[in-house]
Amino acid sequence: MRKGLSLMAASAVLLLPLSGIGSISISSKTVKPGDAVLISVSGSEAANVKFGNKTLPLFSFNDGTKKCFAGIPFDARGNIEISCGEENAKLTVTLSVAATEKLSIPAKENIDEAKAAAEHDRILKVIATVSEKKLWSGKFGKPVPGDVKTPFGVNRVVNGAPGGGHRGVDLAGAAGEPVKSAAGGRVLYCEKTIASGNSIAVDHGQGIVSVYFHLSRFNVKEGESVEKGQVIGAVGSTGFSTGPHLHWGTYVFGVCVDPFVFVKKDFFYGYGKR
Ligand SMILES: [Zn+2]
Repeated sequence: MRKGLSLMAASAVLLLPLSGIGSISISSKTVKPGDAVLISVSGSEAANVKFGNKTLPLFSFNDGTKKCFAGIPFDARGNIEISCGEENAKLTVTLSVAATEKLSIPAKENIDEAKAAAEHDRILKVIATVSEKKLWSGKFGKPVPGDVKTPFGVNRVVNGAPGGGHRGVDLAGAAGEPVKSAAGGRVLYCEKTIASGNSIAVDHGQGIVSVYFHLSRFNVKEGESVEKGQVIGAVGSTGFSTGPHLHWGTYVFGVCVDPFVFVKKDFFYGYGKR
């Protein structure tokens, strides 16, 4: 118990108590679109936390707290209200203006639009998967060593039409280069699709899912458990792609966030694991 308390104190900079007895703590009070925060609740029977207009499930940890992550959506501006039982907290979102990138992707003939739409719906469902058990520990790793070609959030104009914000990062990589799982988890999805090509989604548990698109091959199957650093596929240019690269995305309860948030931070700092 003592050890747990001293570890809590050591990370006090990141876990700012926002109310009198600190029953809701949040890993950062000021965020920008694409960030993720860890919400920690103590001394409450509540099973959920309200985060803006979303209700997020809380997971119980060995140190007696309940926690969940929350993703800050692309379009978040101003304040996000957080509440749990009687407790309230507030997050301030800083306006960030994303860059614009113009892309020209050769039109593919005979695209089955209905099939592409059905695949898109299925991927959206998959990335919103929530499973109870935390399957990773520590920081996430980059799936390939290459540099960022297109960062998270960049507004895209594809063949002259608005393509929306970039929901992940594009990493440089040669065709055939191994792609590694960013963290431990379970393969949720492993399919060839029209838009994102050969695609893998890995469930890390507790609402965190990562995706790997445009692969040239699969090294895993759906349902398989994977460890951080395990080769799951290879870099390719399948689907709508301008050349070999890896599109890597990270979702928090279905909200896309910058994958580097989980590479830069270990939100748990070794305490309260489960
Ligand atoms: Zn991409």
